[in-house]
Amino acid sequence: MTRPIKAQINLAALKHNYQLAKQLNAGPALAVIKANAYGHGAVACAQAVADVADGYAVASLEEARQLREAGITQPILLLEGFFAKDELAEISKLDCWLVIHALWQVDALIDAGVGQSLQLWLKVDTGMHRLGLSPEDATVAYSRLKTITTPSHIKLMTHFANADDLSAEDTKSQLQVFEQLCDAIGFEGEVSVANSAAILSRQQPRQMFLSHWARPGLMLYGANPFYGQRSPSVELALKAVMTLSANIIAVRTISAGESIGYGSLYTAKKTMCIGVVSCGYADGYPRTAIDAPAMVAGQMTKVIGRVSMDMLFVDLQDIDSAEVGTEVELWGANVSVDAVADAANTLAYELLCNVKRVQFIYT
Ligand SMILES: *Cc1c(COP(=O)(O)O)cnc(C)c1O
Repeated sequence: MTRPIKAQINLAALKHNYQLAKQLNAGPALAVIKANAYGHGAVACAQAVADVADGYAVASLEEARQLREAGITQPILLLEGFFAKDELAEISKLDCWLVIHALWQVDALIDAGVGQSLQLWLKVDTGMHRLGLSPEDATVAYSRLKTITTPSHIKLMTHFANADDLSAEDTKSQLQVFEQLCDAIGFEGEVSVANSAAILSRQQPRQMFLSHWARPGLMLYGANPFYGQRSPSVELALKAVMTLSANIIAVRTISAGESIGYGSLYTAKKTMCIGVVSCGYADGYPRTAIDAPAMVAGQMTKVIGRVSMDMLFVDLQDIDSAEVGTEVELWGANVSVDAVADAANTLAYELLCNVKRVQFIYT
């Protein structure tokens, strides 16, 4: 690639973050590596934790197949289950763990005759109202599945709507609905409830269950799921995995009153130096970012003006050593991806997933 822009992926940091998730959960954890491991590269990330990972979670059969073809042997959970019945043969062949979130899936499973060989995760809707069986339907599904498979092959899970909001009471009440259902059907097997935010804030199911499988996603990549609520302890403990950097490809001097870029969004108050950087929204940098932090030659500065498709501007007023070819860290080890996401009014999730057209370097 001739254009100087790269994403360095620190696989040791990923492993550190995964082990932290396991430690906080005090139990097994499925490394959530859907969406190409949140943009970091699914196979490389899966392999980097393969010697410690209890299992993985992905969004589709294609994502699972890619991991199996790369030699991954641990359990792989399909978070959205299957979309059509004809996937079941391959799901069974690849030995995936399967989320069941609707009654039609129970019928299809029984019909296809593969139910007994699979590990099934009954997903209960406890209040988020995205995927999942109502507690009533979950009761029905549970008793039907018990007729075709051994109870140890059936596990229960749910997902929180607001685990990232530490002041919300929703998570507690979702847990309550979940545990009430477990009591009602006499379930004490394996469960899974916690995403990154729940793991970090230790919102856990009670101890009675055989085991609790955490499902860390974002935290594996070193980002902070607590939107708008900086949590220093979290930030200290997690290590950034992706460092996105590009180069200064032009240095310009603009005079007071001159504006830069599309929409003339930024106007100089006095004569100043700016850098044009080889990174734009087509690489995944958020177009909506305003005053996002960046690091040039070891000094913090900010992105100014409107981000365009292939380029953006950085303020070089206080950075004398910057010249064409100087590297700019857009986020990563020194520039928090959460702060950049904040500046763009979004979350690190979206930024990381969107990175493309860059060279990936694994270390
Ligand atoms: C994506 C996903 C996760 C991981 O969530 P994070 O917030 O990234 O930790 C966990 N569970 C389910 C069902 C998911 O879809």
